[in-house]
Amino acid sequence: MLIRYFDPWKGDLCTCPKKYSFNPYTGCEHKCVYCYITSYIPRGHEGRIKKNLLKTVMKEKKKLNPNIPISMSNSSDPYTPLEKTHKITRACLKILKDFKILIITKSDLVVRDADLLKNMRTSVSMTITTLDENLARKLEPHAPTPEKRLRAIHELIEKGIPVSCRIDPIIPGLNEDTKRIVKELSDIGVKHIVSSTFKPRYDSWKRFSSTFRDIAKELEELYFKKGSKHNNSYYLPRELRVKLMQQVKENCRHWGITFATCREGLPNEVTCDGSHLIKG
Ligand code: SF4
Repeated sequence: MLIRYFDPWKGDLCTCPKKYSFNPYTGCEHKCVYCYITSYIPRGHEGRIKKNLLKTVMKEKKKLNPNIPISMSNSSDPYTPLEKTHKITRACLKILKDFKILIITKSDLVVRDADLLKNMRTSVSMTITTLDENLARKLEPHAPTPEKRLRAIHELIEKGIPVSCRIDPIIPGLNEDTKRIVKELSDIGVKHIVSSTFKPRYDSWKRFSSTFRDIAKELEELYFKKGSKHNNSYYLPRELRVKLMQQVKENCRHWGITFATCREGLPNEVTCDGSHLIKG
């Protein structure tokens, strides 16, 4: 099955509501330094097209519950650069137009599909980890700049499409000061923010520590001696995670934005994935 129940590593810390997960592409070309997909997808940062995808989606949709949202996508950006020419995500949206769709992306290309999204039961979740273009280039080398993402969020909101924002991951010493991001998001009308701390796996830690050598040295003890391990991901000590999430939450509260955490095992007042924003 290409569209199957979301199974976030059978994790005890996941607070996601029931949903399907569907990745229109295999692998993702944004090549984020902190990305975990390379731990379970071979050549995870090479985008590939799936064989007979559209035919399979047409067949599978007959078996789906239309009231359970389909999350697109959790193991590859549905607007990975390949989408610009191949338009596979767009074709899937057309096929799945009667379903609730949750888009998770770092790309402003999503605005191209606003004509479809505004007539669907949908919510777009845009990730912004920093407003610093240089830092973004290092963290997410092939993803659109933060400025482009902000513009895309604004355009989607203007068109009446519900948008939430992910400030994810928060990495101590790198992007933990979220005051400016939350203010910018509030200014353009974002009403819900989700955040999460960096939870490296073996290969993402390798990439991260060769890109951010000094910070990695400082974090090593926190992750691997004082922290904990859940489903192959390393977590910071709980009290530090709570503190980091509390900071984002306070910034959100200040600007009247709802807040939730992702895979932190902390209680949330609203959905962590923004699916409560889907109308209907
Ligand atoms: S956009 Fe998501 S899936 Fe793609 S490389 Fe970045 S973290 Fe990985």
